[in-house]
Amino acid sequence: MDGKNIRIKVSSNREPRLQGQSRIFHLKRRDPLTGLYLEKAFKNKVKEKLEGWQDNMEYAFVYTDINDFSYINDNFGHSAGNEILKSLASYLRKGDNMISCRLYSDLFVIFLWDTERDAVLQNIVNTSLEFSRKQKEIYPSCGIRLTTGIYFMEHKDENLDVAIENANLTRKSIKGSSTAFCHVYESKMRSQREEEKQVLADFQESLKEGGFEVYVQPKFFLSRFELYGGEALVRWRKENGRIESPDFFIPILEKSGYIVELDFYVYEQVLIYMRSWLEEGKEPPVISVNFSRGHFEGEGIYRRILSMTKAYRIEPKYIEIEITESLLITGYDLVKAEVNQLRQAGFRVAIDDFGTGYSSLGMLLDIPADVVKIDKSFLHRENGGNEKEFIQNMGRLIESIQEEVIFEGIETEEQREFLVDCGFRLGQGFLFDEPMPIEVFQEKYMK
Ligand code: C2E
Ligand code: CA
Ligand code: CA
Repeated sequence: MDGKNIRIKVSSNREPRLQGQSRIFHLKRRDPLTGLYLEKAFKNKVKEKLEGWQDNMEYAFVYTDINDFSYINDNFGHSAGNEILKSLASYLRKGDNMISCRLYSDLFVIFLWDTERDAVLQNIVNTSLEFSRKQKEIYPSCGIRLTTGIYFMEHKDENLDVAIENANLTRKSIKGSSTAFCHVYESKMRSQREEEKQVLADFQESLKEGGFEVYVQPKFFLSRFELYGGEALVRWRKENGRIESPDFFIPILEKSGYIVELDFYVYEQVLIYMRSWLEEGKEPPVISVNFSRGHFEGEGIYRRILSMTKAYRIEPKYIEIEITESLLITGYDLVKAEVNQLRQAGFRVAIDDFGTGYSSLGMLLDIPADVVKIDKSFLHRENGGNEKEFIQNMGRLIESIQEEVIFEGIETEEQREFLVDCGFRLGQGFLFDEPMPIEVFQEKYMK
């Protein structure tokens, strides 16, 4: 292992005092719990190593943490947590081609080098797996594992803080993922991170100033080319006039929780329009509104939807609430209770993007909705014979439990005819119309 205790040769009569000094020096450089370097000493050690940079070598920063470490501390006590940290540190001290540091808590940075990238990666993966295996023996009920970001240096003079932060960003990007435990930095990650920051910085202000606009995409009866309803879809008009697509900003707002505010903003706009249609004596079409999964990590949607709808004196029968299929699997109890309450109050509930997650038809039986929206990916696959039969059977099964089926993403006449032949009634897609500003929808479809 690199960086052994610094030993100073001294004559015997002064030995005790100097041993003391050396010990203080040691303590300032090392983490008392794990014996690994502290941050400053670590960086100095890395700089020394980089003095001897060799072009035929690969140098990497590895940023790692232990999943659910606070859970371990809370449930098994701090001394158990400390043992786990020490155990991890024992692996990080093993090789002669690494310099390791504990930053604080369960955050570790390691500087590694080898002649091949694969060798570096292999080393990390082996250590990670070996550590998890060992912990599994001690805590069989917990899946203790590491989440690791890796950054390979490009040249000798790179800023170390930026390089370490790149490894950290990579680690964060896979945090919470159930499949990835280790990931290598890609340069686009940094710009993505910048974009995310910008979205979050602009959001509140833009929401207040009407930067978010409600578009509506009509839903059609497949056989008659006739309006059946609409789906509210949000757009973000930036100061430069550019319109951002929700696929870009919704995932960012979901991560931060701001999506809750945005969804209710969109909902309120829909209620305002419905009120004005009713005032003009027009019967509103049923409009569906998307509610993201973030709501179900908090207090749900039912109460707020109900009170807003009442405030605008809109009958719930004009409203459809779209929640994604993936919610049927996670957050099950709250989702089920909320769906039931919404339906009892007279709202319609749609399961969106059906077929993209891992829910089953059994779950539809357990959480009955009014509508199931079949995801556009079904129509956009290569439509071989089996595929068509599958779509037909799936749709029929859903209808057999009294739920309406809507196909999304219908783009061609051929797709429409196929669905009509199968006996399906409803669809949405560019073939019929694209999403449009709600005022345009009103002009075009509500004469
Ligand atoms: P989604 O709910 O599945 O909405 C349908 C998306 O498919 C819309 O994209 C729509 O423009 C697009 N689409 C419609 N017809 C076709 C077609 O024929 N072919 C293809 N390829 N696409 C079609 P959009 O408006 O960009 O929205 C993307 C996603 O963003 C939505 O997918 C939804 O998940 C989310 N989203 C949009 N508005 C909101 C909102 O207000 N709240 C929340 N939570 N999510 C929203
Ligand atoms: Ca939707
Ligand atoms: Ca959808």
